[in-house]
Amino acid sequence: MARDGTETQPTSAPVAEGASASAATEPPKQYPKGVILGKDGKPCRPCNTFASFTAQSKSTLKAAATQGPPKDCPPDVEQLGRSTWTLLHSIAATYPPRPTPKEQSDIKDFMRLFSKLYPCWVCAEDFQSYVEKKEVKAGSREEFGNWLCEAHNEVNRKLGKPTFDCSKWEERWRTGWKDGSCD
Ligand SMILES: Cc1cc2nc3c(=O)[nH]c(=O)nc-3n(C[C@H](O)[C@H](O)[C@H](O)COP(=O)(O)OP(=O)(O)OC[C@H]3O[C@@H](n4cnc5c(N)ncnc54)[C@H](O)[C@@H]3O)c2cc1C
Repeated sequence: MARDGTETQPTSAPVAEGASASAATEPPKQYPKGVILGKDGKPCRPCNTFASFTAQSKSTLKAAATQGPPKDCPPDVEQLGRSTWTLLHSIAATYPPRPTPKEQSDIKDFMRLFSKLYPCWVCAEDFQSYVEKKEVKAGSREEFGNWLCEAHNEVNRKLGKPTFDCSKWEERWRTGWKDGSCD
């Protein structure tokens, strides 16, 4: 699901189990339309952009939209996403060129569990479907790096972002660019 909330989302939190009588009679809290809620009925921070669920004045809204949450606050969907892709592509970059059968099954297990545990539940649901459709390829570093690059491109497409040229994934994530700008 895209972060712009194009799917219908509940806009009010359910009353929590075990809430006090007075709390139970209060109307459910309203959140901005399109905000994705977590299992607790509150806005799911890692599922939304910071700007989309915080009460922002016009002047701070622009900053929030471009900068995301302050450094020492829980991550929003974009900050979490960038950090996670960095971790995943870095794992691909250090994956062996010729992995043993155990290393291959480990990375497949890791990706399967990762797709279940990813904190943005709407992202996780789509990613699980992708992993079911396009089985993880882990026969070599090149194979896994390319599989991951394609998986990332699938998310890029869903979000309307430009796709990445997968012939360059190793330069981006392992060796640095050929022009020496990372050295
Ligand atoms: C598994 C997963 C599922 C996600 N699902 C959603 C979702 O459903 N909705 C949502 O709003 N967000 C989702 N995200 C977050 C989203 O993918 C982005 O991380 C976030 O929008 C920030 O994007 P960004 O433009 O900063 O760059 P990112 O997409 O985070 O990419 C970081 C860097 O990776 C490089 N890169 C880009 N594409 C590729 C590629 N194909 N291969 C290798 N390197 C590449 C670029 O240098 C880029 O700057 C998901 C993240 C993950 C990890």
